[in-house]
Amino acid sequence: MNLHKLILTENACFQAGRVIKPKGIMVHSTGANNPNLCRYVGPDDGLLGENRYGNHWNQEKPGGSYVCCHAFIGKLADGTIATYQTLPWDMRGWHAGNGSVGSANDTHISFEICEDDLTDAKYFAAVYQEAVELCAYLCEKYCLTEKDILCHSEGYTRGIASNHGDVMHWFPKFGKSMDTFRADVKKKLSGMETGEIERPDNEKPEQPEKPVKPSNAKVNTEYRVRTNGKWLPAVKNLEDYAGLPGDAITDVAIKISEGKVKYRVHIKGGDWLPYVTGYNINDHQNGYAGNGKPIDAIEVYYYTPNNIRPYKRAKYRVSPLHGDYWPWQHDNEKDSSQDGYAGAFGQQLDRFQIVIE
Ligand SMILES: [Zn+2]
Repeated sequence: MNLHKLILTENACFQAGRVIKPKGIMVHSTGANNPNLCRYVGPDDGLLGENRYGNHWNQEKPGGSYVCCHAFIGKLADGTIATYQTLPWDMRGWHAGNGSVGSANDTHISFEICEDDLTDAKYFAAVYQEAVELCAYLCEKYCLTEKDILCHSEGYTRGIASNHGDVMHWFPKFGKSMDTFRADVKKKLSGMETGEIERPDNEKPEQPEKPVKPSNAKVNTEYRVRTNGKWLPAVKNLEDYAGLPGDAITDVAIKISEGKVKYRVHIKGGDWLPYVTGYNINDHQNGYAGNGKPIDAIEVYYYTPNNIRPYKRAKYRVSPLHGDYWPWQHDNEKDSSQDGYAGAFGQQLDRFQIVIE
C-alpha cells in the first residue's frame, strides 16, 4: 500500500469534528471519469499534481455538497497508484447519506476509488489491490474483519446508505465482486497474522488534528417501562430495575446524561419497531420504543461523545416473566453470551436494567 496523508481540514465535515467508533468499512467509487487524485485531494503536495480548477474537496462544500470520505485511491501526477488519507479514520465522514434504517456515516470508515472510464483492466487491478491492502490495514487497526466491509450499493440494500450503485457497476466488468474483494482482504489479513504483511513505509504515528481533552466522565441512565397501559416510575442506573415481576413490559423509554443512545424493541410475535433516540413518554414517534404490545427483546446502542473517552457501551439486561435475568448485553455486540439484543423471541419480559459503562 502506498499510503499518504492530506487531511481535508477546510472541509465542513472535518470542521464538524465528530468522532465514531468504526464498526466497518464502506467502499465507494467516484462515479466520474477522472482517475487523478488531484481532482479530489489538494492542495498539491508535490506528488498529487495541481488541481487547476480548484475543485478538490479541501473546501467547505465541494461542488456545493456536504461530502467527505476518509481516503481516496487513485493516480499521482506521475501515474503511480496511491492512497490518500483525507480524514482521521475515526472521524465521522459524510459519504453514505441516509438509508431506511440509518446511516453508515455513524459507523463506517469510507474511501472512494477514483474511477476512470471503466475499461482499463490494468488500472482496475492496481486500485483493487490498493483497496484490498487499505481494508486489511484498517481491519487490523480497528479489530474488524472482512465481514465488516461493504460497498455503497450493499449499504443501500441494508438500509444504511443512499441509493447508489457503486462499486457494483464497475467490479463485475473485471470479474470481481464485493465477495471476491472480502475474500482477498481475508487472505491479506491471514498473512498479517503470520507476520508477512508489510507496513506502509511512510506511515507516521497518528496525531489528532484537533486536540480534544476527553475525560472519563460518568454517564447516568434514567429509564422507565410501561406495563398494563401504565408507565412505571423512572429508575436510575442500577439503583433498581424498571418493571414489575410478572407484568409484561410493552414500552421502554431511556435517557442518558451525556452522548446519544438509540434503542428499539421487538414485539412478541411481531417485528422490530424503528429505532428511537428520545426520552418523552408523550412522544410516540421518538420518545420511547414500543406500541403498547408485549415485547420480547430490546436493543440499545450508545454513542460516546467526543468529550468522553474511553468509549463506553450500553450494558443492559432483561428477565423473562417470573424468571431470572439473562446475561448482560453490550450495545449490539454478538458473541457466545450476547445476541446483539436482550431478550428471546417469543418470551415476554418483566424487568429491565441499563447502565452506561
Ligand atoms: Zn458511494
